[in-house]
Amino acid sequence: MIVIIRKRHLAVAALALCGFGLIAYLLWQPVQETGAFAADTVVLDAGHGGADGGAVAADGTAESSINLAITIKARDILLFLGHDVTLTRADEQGLYNDDSDTIRQKKVADTHNRVALINSVDGAVLLSIHQNALPSSPRTHGAQAFYNSVAPARDLARSIQQALNDAINVDNAKTAAAIPGSVYIMANVDCPGVLVECGFMSNPQESALLQTAEHQMKLAQAIVCGYLSYEG
Ligand SMILES: [Zn+2]
Repeated sequence: MIVIIRKRHLAVAALALCGFGLIAYLLWQPVQETGAFAADTVVLDAGHGGADGGAVAADGTAESSINLAITIKARDILLFLGHDVTLTRADEQGLYNDDSDTIRQKKVADTHNRVALINSVDGAVLLSIHQNALPSSPRTHGAQAFYNSVAPARDLARSIQQALNDAINVDNAKTAAAIPGSVYIMANVDCPGVLVECGFMSNPQESALLQTAEHQMKLAQAIVCGYLSYEG
């Protein structure tokens, strides 16, 4: 409880840094009775990068740059609140060597390097930031959290999902789900991992929203708040 109170005081101080949304959310959240989970380091993974842009909006904007923008904002909030943070990438480059020729080779090298980096961090929790796309259903929208098989990823994802539902998914609540085993990074890291699909690039309205700094900050705040709420 002492820790929670201290964090909330810190959160009040964060008002000047990142706007009232984070503070309002933290103060209105009921205190959750959770386990004593606390990662030593939050690894923030901005999905894709370099030759692999990920999902692409109709206007040509790649998922990778939106992932990075949200990741940087989440990093700044976590650092301000006194957490240790590691990024898998802090710029638009992918994690592959110049000797990778094809995009496939680059992507394979990138995912392997990310796993090695994440697994080198002691006491890590992984928060991976992505954007979704479902061109066959352009109305589909909203943010969803997916968890890997390492406890307490499922409960952490549920906490993040609750924050996303409160802040982003108005009248469009979603449920956290297990991530398919085919997602290499999530399946091969040793630490609890939550992958957040922040929105749908295939939805024109949401795609435009995802490109605004305001919405990116809202997402970063919700993800951090969901994480802190679980940490307890
Ligand atoms: Zn992605």
